[in-house]
Amino acid sequence: MDEKEELGSFDPNIPEEGPSAPPAGWLEDVHGYQSHNGEDENPLYPPPPAYNPQPELNRNTSVPNVRVPTISEDVARDALLKFVESKWRYSSKPARNLTFKELKPITVYRYRLETYTETRTSGWKFEPYNGQVVDGPQYGVSPPPWDIPVAMPQTFTDIVEKVRVPHSCLVKTCHMCAGCGRTRCISCSGRGQKRCTACHGKGHRVQHGNHKRSSGTRRCSSCHGRGRKRCNSCQGLGFKICSVCHGSQNLLHFIQLTVTWKNNISDFIPDRQPDFPDKKFEKVTGDPFFVDESILVYPIQGFPDQEICDVSTKMINEHLERFSSTSRILQQRQTIELVPLTHAHYTYSGKDYSFFVYGVENQVFASKYPSACSIL
Ligand SMILES: [Zn+2]
Ligand SMILES: [Zn+2]
Ligand SMILES: [Zn+2]
Repeated sequence: MDEKEELGSFDPNIPEEGPSAPPAGWLEDVHGYQSHNGEDENPLYPPPPAYNPQPELNRNTSVPNVRVPTISEDVARDALLKFVESKWRYSSKPARNLTFKELKPITVYRYRLETYTETRTSGWKFEPYNGQVVDGPQYGVSPPPWDIPVAMPQTFTDIVEKVRVPHSCLVKTCHMCAGCGRTRCISCSGRGQKRCTACHGKGHRVQHGNHKRSSGTRRCSSCHGRGRKRCNSCQGLGFKICSVCHGSQNLLHFIQLTVTWKNNISDFIPDRQPDFPDKKFEKVTGDPFFVDESILVYPIQGFPDQEICDVSTKMINEHLERFSSTSRILQQRQTIELVPLTHAHYTYSGKDYSFFVYGVENQVFASKYPSACSIL
């Protein structure tokens, strides 16, 4: 078999695949967008020093007096019945027939601090160039990261927006195909054909029969005796359309600015009920009787629960320290909620039990409940 005939489609002018990303130094630095250490592909820009919000001093953050909500026996019983129905091994009979001894309301405050921040990062991106408008440096200097105007979303909503930095565009020869638009097929090394795997390139196969006499060689049916087959990866062409420029030969590079708005939330509930797991509060709502919103809020003073005042000071300082060096703080909001909690004591079959009703949703937590067996 003539080897040279089989290599007919090999074209030495089609390059091998280049790097999938532009190599270092491929793109010039744009003023204001250099990465901090020269390697970081996604530099996080600290807010400009001119932007330095100050808390408004002497603001009155006095908090109104609040009354602890109380629930009736009917509400407590309905809540317990719903809870019992959700547990298949609990009987509803005790819930219907129990006798309440005391419904004890407990004051539970939840403090929440929200800090709404904006951060900006950037990186080089590219797309195939097909003659689109190139907004390059000839139209002016790219504005620095924090000078690019973006419309602020509704406060306290998490959103990410990507913006093309003005005048940062440039066109370059594709780094993958060196401007050829095609790359040599890796699977067949550009030959368009591959060795037949059925006959290992021999063109014939040894046939195994039941008797020694019937064994022999036969022409390989998979490659029709040629020993080679068309490469499936490139359909026999020996090359592929460049996966980076899609054949356009050139790429449009630009700097993409990523603007991230995020609401950072911290919660706190003083831990004062040893019989009630505080984690349960995370899933229920309370009554927000104090809401204070400003660019920067000021620590709460004069609230009857000193632990809430202390945690307000602590969290506000923590948020300032955590966010002001890398983000713009756009807005803060602090809230005190009264989270309903009632300890319900009752007797059933001469024994004492209790359960908790919590949250505006009247959820129930019971560590003990008269089982179906004990009432027999
Ligand atoms: Zn191929
Ligand atoms: Zn074959
Ligand atoms: Zn290319």
